[in-house]
Amino acid sequence: MIAVVVFDKTFSYEIHSLVKAFYPMQDVKVYLSSEEIPDNADRLVLPALPNERDPLKRRLYSFLSEHTHKTLPWGTLTGIRPTRIALAGLYAGKTEEEIRAQFRYEYFTSDEKILLSTNIAKREKTILDTMDVRAGYSLYIGIPFCPTTCAYCSFASYPLAKNESKTDAYVTALIRELDYVADAFSHKELHSIYLGGGTPTTLTGTQSERLLNAIEERLDVQHLREFTVECGRPDSMDLEKLTVLKRHGISRICVNPQTFKQDTLNTIGRAHTVEDTVRAYTLALEAGFDHINMDLILGLPGETTEDVKHTMEEVARLNPDDVTVHSLAVKRGSFLHRKLTEGEDFQRADAPDEMMRTATAYANDICCTPYYLYRQKNMTGNMENTGFAKEGKEGIYNILINEEVESIVALGAGAISKRIFYIEETDTNRENAPFSVRIERSENLKELDLYLARVDEMIERKKALFD
Ligand code: SF4
Repeated sequence: MIAVVVFDKTFSYEIHSLVKAFYPMQDVKVYLSSEEIPDNADRLVLPALPNERDPLKRRLYSFLSEHTHKTLPWGTLTGIRPTRIALAGLYAGKTEEEIRAQFRYEYFTSDEKILLSTNIAKREKTILDTMDVRAGYSLYIGIPFCPTTCAYCSFASYPLAKNESKTDAYVTALIRELDYVADAFSHKELHSIYLGGGTPTTLTGTQSERLLNAIEERLDVQHLREFTVECGRPDSMDLEKLTVLKRHGISRICVNPQTFKQDTLNTIGRAHTVEDTVRAYTLALEAGFDHINMDLILGLPGETTEDVKHTMEEVARLNPDDVTVHSLAVKRGSFLHRKLTEGEDFQRADAPDEMMRTATAYANDICCTPYYLYRQKNMTGNMENTGFAKEGKEGIYNILINEEVESIVALGAGAISKRIFYIEETDTNRENAPFSVRIERSENLKELDLYLARVDEMIERKKALFD
């Protein structure tokens, strides 16, 4: 364990994130110099640091870089969305050179990541410029049931076998929340719907039909640009369910292999085969879907760059319309995190940046180029999650939620609604920029039984946020 010794804890979060980025395999804790430090910890005494966040991070980065003889591709960028910096620059009328200089000198970002961020921001801006995000909203609906629980999962997810008896009541609760949305958002344009989870296709065809009918009956969909259903687990899909989705106008679905290495699927508890993935993808085509996404994870336990290559060859063979490449993040609450804190370890990604380059090259080969990007804490190799899409096949909801430019009302256990308050700008260059915002959130209870019992209270929470 690394004990970082500081004289002031004001910026301990920023200090922790940056030290952790330099020492990804180690447990890092920040201590005040007056606190007792465990004997077995390696002490890291920091130099005097400035009292402002960004200068502090730059000084700390230089110190750690000298200390470890390493540089980080994203430089000091922790806790900030890189594409948001680039997008804000574009909306403020900055030139690309000015944006590049900002990344280089303020955040010490590598040229490769600067190019990635600015290219994505330009693509996002092209899409956002076609939408009036101030007049609109998006809808998220979470279905918290899964066939089994994946080892890295930290979402609201309950094994279907044990909770099947609650699925009807769950759909009823969602429809109750939908009644509120229909009433409160009738003056707004609904731009995108995302049915995620969990695994939405754990619902039966009849239950899906009931939910989709309720959406159609209550909400005005004339401005709807996208309706995604994250089917997710291939072992939850059949032709009947996919046909119901198609009939109700779902425009984008996700079939998520995560990897095409069977041993890894067994290790991470996915309980489906690589053949199931191919079968589900083929069924989706048969049902008539022309926008299919695939999610992958790099850095899964025991996987090497060769395994990523194999996975990408299989993905390229299926030729989806968009691919999201995640870097494994071991989050608190997951089985993997528990195992790690109990002292068990797994073979970590040998070369995370090489894995990402391999995945990128294969995605590019099927004409999928980056369109959104986000980073999380504790990601393998301090990398990123990147969405690649063919032209015109971008996931619009992904852009809206990541750039936090449009309010999202979220239904279901553990779902978090976000209200965006736009701050008026006086600078005419920024008149239409959706980037000066303040965000407030309201969270639904994550525990399934509590959510079902207290759904009216979840609606009251949303009223307090949106009304
Ligand atoms: S499919 Fe997703 S939500 Fe379900 S257990 Fe796996 S990671 Fe969690």
